[in-house]
Amino acid sequence: MPDTVSSLKRKLALAYQILYQEGLAREDTLGHASVRLPGESLCYVKPWGVGFEEVTPECLLSMDLEGNKVGGGEGRLHSEMPLHSEIYRARPDVNCVIHIHPFHATLLSSVWRGGLRIVNQNTQIFAAGVAMYASSELIRSVETGRAVAEALGAGNALLMKNHGIVVAGQSLEQTLVLAVQLEKAALTHLTLAPFREVSEIPTPVATRWAEELMRPVHCTNKFEYWCRKLQREGVGAYRG
Ligand SMILES: [Zn+2]
Repeated sequence: MPDTVSSLKRKLALAYQILYQEGLAREDTLGHASVRLPGESLCYVKPWGVGFEEVTPECLLSMDLEGNKVGGGEGRLHSEMPLHSEIYRARPDVNCVIHIHPFHATLLSSVWRGGLRIVNQNTQIFAAGVAMYASSELIRSVETGRAVAEALGAGNALLMKNHGIVVAGQSLEQTLVLAVQLEKAALTHLTLAPFREVSEIPTPVATRWAEELMRPVHCTNKFEYWCRKLQREGVGAYRG
């Protein structure tokens, strides 16, 4: 069943809870995830000042590609919205963008030398590479939003130097998997830093597995698992 605006907002509120629950956005209210219906320009995002675990479908705001709030609940948009609008503008295939500051991936951005060690399931979905945005300034203008979209290119994962990450995908489920896996991949890579001799997964094998693991059926399965986990263990304002 294709999503409607209300099912998409419900899923986005769950995605915020999952990002909190999985430890990717626990420290404060900063960072944001947005979604849009395929082919639409309006996207939905949480307001500034609200914690990830506090997000409900009712509090979400809608925003146009010019970065204007055009509907939704109380509150104002985050200042880094050009990051979302310029990626949507550049990438008709992208329907979800997540920008957060997870601990390990942000550390990885500060020591990044261009390659991720592909050694396990967490890292192999990034066999095609991870992009880098080399400025640590916040993304508050259309120009810097465009620069982020350019750095991301046709890819789906980007490290922002000394700042955080951007992941972008065709669906909310796929993008959530990318966010969770990139943080685990960063932890894997950093843990291996002292070791010179590391056995890596050959690129053709990793590429094949990446394609398999990113198929919609696997991403939906993970999303549904995280939703059940929320029902059991969730501490936030919304559990679906
Ligand atoms: Zn940021």
